[in-house]
Amino acid sequence: MFLHDYLYQLEKNKTSIAGTPPAILWLDAGGRFGHADPFDPQQSDALLMNGPTYMLRPSLAKPDLFHNYYRGQTGSDDLEGFIPRNLYGRFLQDLVPALLEKAQHLGITITRQQATITAIHKTPQRALQLVSAEGQRWQADHLALATGPARNRALDHLRGQSGFIDNPSRANSFANSGIDFSNPATQIACFGPGPSCFDGMALLEKEFGFKGKYILVGRANIPFWSIQRNSPVPNDSHYRPRHLSAEALPCPVTESQLIAALFKDIDDLKDPQHNRFEMGPEYLLNLVSSQTPALYARWQAQHRPDALAAAQSHTAFLKLQRVAIKMLEQAVSPQMQALYQNLKDQGRILQVSGRIQEDAITKPNALFTVPVVRQDGLRLNYRSAGIMNCKPHVRSWQPGGATAQEQLLAQMTEQGLIRQNKQEQLGLYDFIHGLQNRVALLGAATDVLWGVHLSSYKNGQAAEFFASKLIPWQRQATPVLQQNS
Ligand SMILES: Cc1cc2nc3c(=O)[nH]c(=O)nc-3n(C[C@H](O)[C@H](O)[C@H](O)COP(=O)(O)OP(=O)(O)OC[C@H]3O[C@@H](n4cnc5c(N)ncnc54)[C@H](O)[C@@H]3O)c2cc1C
Repeated sequence: MFLHDYLYQLEKNKTSIAGTPPAILWLDAGGRFGHADPFDPQQSDALLMNGPTYMLRPSLAKPDLFHNYYRGQTGSDDLEGFIPRNLYGRFLQDLVPALLEKAQHLGITITRQQATITAIHKTPQRALQLVSAEGQRWQADHLALATGPARNRALDHLRGQSGFIDNPSRANSFANSGIDFSNPATQIACFGPGPSCFDGMALLEKEFGFKGKYILVGRANIPFWSIQRNSPVPNDSHYRPRHLSAEALPCPVTESQLIAALFKDIDDLKDPQHNRFEMGPEYLLNLVSSQTPALYARWQAQHRPDALAAAQSHTAFLKLQRVAIKMLEQAVSPQMQALYQNLKDQGRILQVSGRIQEDAITKPNALFTVPVVRQDGLRLNYRSAGIMNCKPHVRSWQPGGATAQEQLLAQMTEQGLIRQNKQEQLGLYDFIHGLQNRVALLGAATDVLWGVHLSSYKNGQAAEFFASKLIPWQRQATPVLQQNS
């Protein structure tokens, strides 16, 4: 989508720009331009987008881009549902020829080439030199780097073993696993039950007719898709909001002050010191959406407001509650909730609150032995025919990794082109620092509630920044590593 936003900016600024238009070099290691793995147009309908259609705004410059495509393809105006990911994949696929045509109209050449970039250096003129594994070199003024989500290596030692499902979003991971899906005694242990776990369950149930049980092991005591508006609230000792607290809020309090406090608390969740149990934003939203009356009562007791302040503030609290419910709904599809509930009703889900000891998993015979340390400290061994890696990706690339993607980032860090964000303890990179060095680090946010907005926002920012540097257009090359987010 960066390419879309970049062309949009160039078109917008066309009249104010003199000189030769830029050339765009689009490089991709797999030679799959416009194809993103999670959005394969050929994959099963069971795999759904992780947000409702109205949230799918891949370009903030053209917020209706996908919605118009969706209406055109389906004839439907219902933007509330969670659509199959293959439809979004078709959108990305169809976007490529449209973008190439648009570039041509603007007199911009886009060259697509299969190449794996292994190093990027600064030239003495502050341009960038790209080096490929194939031995080619290119010089460029700007670089949009979108090399995809980072792989979680926690279960790498199980790769290749029968019964290990490396990626629950891919049907062939199951087909090659050797697990007997028709046997009701078959148990599959799910490592980190997040959205990919739902992918796995949806494929197992709909494509493979699985009859067995799921052992869901997660550090939170409930997986997020089990949260519903009326769910009992989890024990708030897991995380206590600092900003949305009676003491921290003013009197009277407005809707915008409450929403600002909510967002600050969501931000706090990124701090492992404060958020020891690594609760996701959905936990906080669940807490707020179901505990607003209690929060209001605590606020009243703390501030003893007069009647007018109490009434105005009460309206603000109710609006806060609606915002939290809306945000929560965005993270959980009704299909996900229904499938989860149905499996629970059938007694096919064993939920364990604890942590799998990844390194201690063994396979002494046909079954895995999966040691789990529960939250109360007790260590239990579970036996399972399969292990599903439901956390195939982590939030951000970690330095020092062995993949080509991580080595490239390490090399760029050494060059000072990019750097880790000091405030973030989760290995995220400093976007602004990268831009200052002519590099935009894009795409691949894997978080449901944070990711979608963040990646569209970054695409737009980078496109605008790079285009503004081309007034007047002077330089010749703006490479783009494949980018679909
Ligand atoms: C199972 C799953 C479901 C998801 N569902 C959603 C969803 O519903 N909604 C959502 O917004 N997001 C979702 N995501 C997040 C998703 O990863 C991103 O939205 C999107 O796919 C990221 O696109 P990307 O272009 O950044 O990365 P990718 O699609 O991974 O593309 C990266 C490309 O970079 C190339 N590359 C890598 N290294 C190099 C190199 N050194 N040189 C040259 N080329 C290189 C690769 O060949 C690849 O083609 C999902 C992710 C997963 C894993």
